[in-house]
Amino acid sequence: MNILVLNCGSSSLKFQLIATDLERIEQNADQRLAHGMIERIGGAAILNFAVEGKTAEKSAAPIRDIPSALEAVIRWISAQSIEGVNNLGDIDAVGHRVVHGGEYFSQSVLINDEVLRAIEDCIELAPLHNPANIKGIQAVKEIFGKAIPQAAVFDTAFHQTLPEKAFLYAIPYQLYRRHKIRRYGFHGTSHRYIAYRYRTTNHIPRERVNVITLHLGNGCSIAAIKNGNSIDTSMGLTPLEGLVMGTRSGDLDAAILELVGAKEGLTIHETVMLLNKQSGLLGISGLTNDMRELLAEAEESDDRRAKLAIEIFCYRVGKYIGAYLAAMNGTDTIIFGGGIGENSAKIRSLICENLKWFGIALDETENSAHVGGREGTISTEDSRTKVCVIPTNEELLIARDTVRLIHGKI
Ligand code: ADP
Repeated sequence: MNILVLNCGSSSLKFQLIATDLERIEQNADQRLAHGMIERIGGAAILNFAVEGKTAEKSAAPIRDIPSALEAVIRWISAQSIEGVNNLGDIDAVGHRVVHGGEYFSQSVLINDEVLRAIEDCIELAPLHNPANIKGIQAVKEIFGKAIPQAAVFDTAFHQTLPEKAFLYAIPYQLYRRHKIRRYGFHGTSHRYIAYRYRTTNHIPRERVNVITLHLGNGCSIAAIKNGNSIDTSMGLTPLEGLVMGTRSGDLDAAILELVGAKEGLTIHETVMLLNKQSGLLGISGLTNDMRELLAEAEESDDRRAKLAIEIFCYRVGKYIGAYLAAMNGTDTIIFGGGIGENSAKIRSLICENLKWFGIALDETENSAHVGGREGTISTEDSRTKVCVIPTNEELLIARDTVRLIHGKI
């Protein structure tokens, strides 16, 4: 089957076209055929598309909205000579990344009117993301027709196994009852993929998976996975909580909102935007949200604030690992994923420096060798806890879930 995987954001659309079916899933033989993204939808958009194994094509065009963006993707796919994909009819199903499934969804589902209503219900929990996801679902209906199967794969679903003690905030309980104010967690598809990949490559049954997974990208989160289930994670009601991220602050004292608002003359909404868009690595360094650039600044210019941003980032990750080691009563493996986690031996090394007390030790030769998508173990043989790198692949999991749902296997 050819599955189109869509990730629709407020001003961007990312896609992958993946050939997979039950047999290929079993054999880990799925094949990515094409991928790409359109950024700055709503104005002069930038399109970046690539057929697998060929050089990417970059172009610019005015693109009004998500339906127009999807049309541009379909037009481009149809114009390529991709084996088995000549026109719209050769795309068998569409899988969507949906950010917020609230308490409605603990797994992926095929989309029908009832599911769509529940996703709409979660808009107030993810006002920037869910409306774009819904637009993507509706655009597919219009362009492909109502009959095409569409699946929703939620960022929050994997974390629905969190126990109350982990998901409730210590605020009046009525706020949870009345408004569903609680921690949901995000990046669930990534944490689930990493845990899945770990257990299949190591031949461990799901219920014996006890790992800490780290998704360190532009957004960053960590999950404690015990007996195969997520029992705690660092993001909360929204993706703002937890680790230091590219532009998000992560954990802070909520009283900051009032004080910063009063001092800087900002509304609550503006202050929350400041915490989401101008904080984190960018806010501390005053330079960039990009970890690679920060590492270069620290190395080449000895920039104090670049170094500080890196230090705070790694310190926070280390603290969370320590907390989750306690929450889980110890773990078998700590697994790094996400753009930073998969590529930066330096950051992994700095994080693990703070974990020596736990008997965690990296083999620096292996650590340096596991970059650029290389999967494997980076801890020493006698490290008390194993440390691994597993490149994440949320799109693959979305494509596979779509296939499984169509065959009634979920
Ligand atoms: P997203 O969370 O948006 O999917 P990614 O997972 O692609 O983002 O991660 C982006 C982050 O990964 C950026 O901060 C980028 O600088 C960082 N990154 C990518 N390659 C490297 C590298 N070689 N060294 C350090 N950081 C890197």
